[in-house]
Amino acid sequence: MQTIFPTVNVLDVPFVKTTAAELLPVLQDRIINHTNTFVVTANPEIVMYAHNHSAYHGLLHTADFITPDGVGILDGAKILKQPLPERITGYDTLEALLSWGSESHRSAYFVGAKPAVIDALAKILPERFPGLTIAGLHDGYFTDDTAIVQDIQAKQPDMVFTALGFPKQEEFIQAHRHVTNGLWMGVGGSFDVLAGMVDRAPKFWQTHHLEWFYRTVKEPKRLKRIAVIPQYLRLVRQQVKQQRR
Ligand code: UDP
Repeated sequence: MQTIFPTVNVLDVPFVKTTAAELLPVLQDRIINHTNTFVVTANPEIVMYAHNHSAYHGLLHTADFITPDGVGILDGAKILKQPLPERITGYDTLEALLSWGSESHRSAYFVGAKPAVIDALAKILPERFPGLTIAGLHDGYFTDDTAIVQDIQAKQPDMVFTALGFPKQEEFIQAHRHVTNGLWMGVGGSFDVLAGMVDRAPKFWQTHHLEWFYRTVKEPKRLKRIAVIPQYLRLVRQQVKQQRR
């Protein structure tokens, strides 16, 4: 974990206490300087998974930056009386880095999502980000990652985005981040959104902290994700009591 920003521990996951506007230039500098960087954008589901899986918990501690992706993390930090300024989502960070990468002629590699999504991205990315070099695009339904990793190593992209869902996307990064000194970030379902296959919640829902509700209504299979919230909040309240002792 980098010490550039203070952190707030939510169930022993250290979140950077900063804003997207402050974090982005730091990430860009590291890319320019070829500093190996692992970014995790974590929501309560990820925190709970780490709470119950020690290997994944240890993996999170090897990240350079963990950002609060999800209003539940902001709520947790508030309960701990160490509020975090804002959500820094995987999707917004991905979009910001691709726009910057297009302006400054950087390269990016994409691993994840269904083959149809990757086909759509192959068309959309050059239109939306004309200055960006697409170093590689690979869907996330592979059994052997050897060829993909060799390709990343050969291409030496500035940024590698993995959209495999957690814990797979972070496990892939931990196992392979040494092959190129760029920025590595797991982005969940962001390729689906970028390809226009899934809608992001309209701004109203986002600014009223109801994106989770919008997405759950549209995709009821997500219900199991918000089901962890009550237990998560209970554990955060327990953390408050332990800290008082
Ligand atoms: N995915 C993948 N390989 C797998 C499982 C999932 O590439 O073996 C992709 C899936 O197609 C989707 C993304 O990983 O694009 C995960 O999205 P999800 O909605 O689960 O993640 P969230 O946005 O909630 O983090």
